[in-house]
Amino acid sequence: MKLEPLPLRTRAHRGEDIDSYSRRHAIRNFSTAAHIESALRRHSLLSGYSRVDSDRLAAWRKLGELHEKAFTAPEMVHGNTVETRALCARCARGERAMGRIPELGMVCVRHRRWLGSPQIDLHGYPPAIVAERRYRAHLGLNGVTNESFAMRCAQGCASPGIVGWAEVRRRQAETGIQDESALLYPEQIKFARLITRRSFLAVTSDPDVDPDARQALVAREVAAIIPETESSEPWRAQQRILDVLHQLAAIRRKARYIGTPPDDPDYNLLRHLATTPEPSPDDQTEAAVGPGLSNGFEPEADQQGSARPEVREAAQEQLQFVFGEDTLTSIPRGMLTTVDAPSRTPTRRRS
Ligand SMILES: [Zn+2]
Repeated sequence: MKLEPLPLRTRAHRGEDIDSYSRRHAIRNFSTAAHIESALRRHSLLSGYSRVDSDRLAAWRKLGELHEKAFTAPEMVHGNTVETRALCARCARGERAMGRIPELGMVCVRHRRWLGSPQIDLHGYPPAIVAERRYRAHLGLNGVTNESFAMRCAQGCASPGIVGWAEVRRRQAETGIQDESALLYPEQIKFARLITRRSFLAVTSDPDVDPDARQALVAREVAAIIPETESSEPWRAQQRILDVLHQLAAIRRKARYIGTPPDDPDYNLLRHLATTPEPSPDDQTEAAVGPGLSNGFEPEADQQGSARPEVREAAQEQLQFVFGEDTLTSIPRGMLTTVDAPSRTPTRRRS
């Protein structure tokens, strides 16, 4: 017996998984997925019972006349998991559809919709749309998924208690949106970008960096995201990030001692030391950092070489580009000897 498509066609949504599609397709054809699959088994057209059995995937592609790439959304990208979640209800035309889209953040830009639970309208809050575009351009494309440590840590740093309840209440009153996660999404994306930024990680996760200097640099970056106000507590975000950086520094120190590349499966952040960032108008510091700061693996052994005066001078120049002109006065001299030599002179300044 040959397997034929069901009479009424059902369009599969981008990233939709087989459970969601089979349920919708069966209902549209006045049946259920369980009934259809048991009929297939009776006719020896389906054998396995696994949800993701290749026979089952092939059968439903056939029943729905779908492309062979249907139901192939990855469960893991760059070491970060991709969870199945509800797709935008407007994109799904009001139906409940589940799926995995690794490069999708928490906003459907097309329908300006927050993809949390419940999904809500974001037309009154453009900063969330801007944040989503930044997520897709800088994080989603680099495999930083919603379930990644970077995004979860960033969410913790952008909590209402840290950003400040006064600011949250102000946004709620201004937009009519009550969902705090949606209102603080812009800060979450800024934190996620910070802790995955190559130039930031290269310096702050360096095991030889003076702890006071590391703290000063983190404080400066956090202050740029969460201004100090009566109700904000940016120091708590600083501490969260510093705790992670201390762990990463320990991992890098151990890797250097053993002579292997650093491995941080719990954080999955050190991989960003080896990535090539795309320069963007609001990310000039990335473009200004030379290759010397770009690779956290090999150059760490070059401690003697980096102590040379000309190397220290170049490192000072790099740090000025990364963290601003006035930072250097607060950085102990010892820290600068740990920055690896750049192979080219930065040509662009922060605008
Ligand atoms: Zn949508």
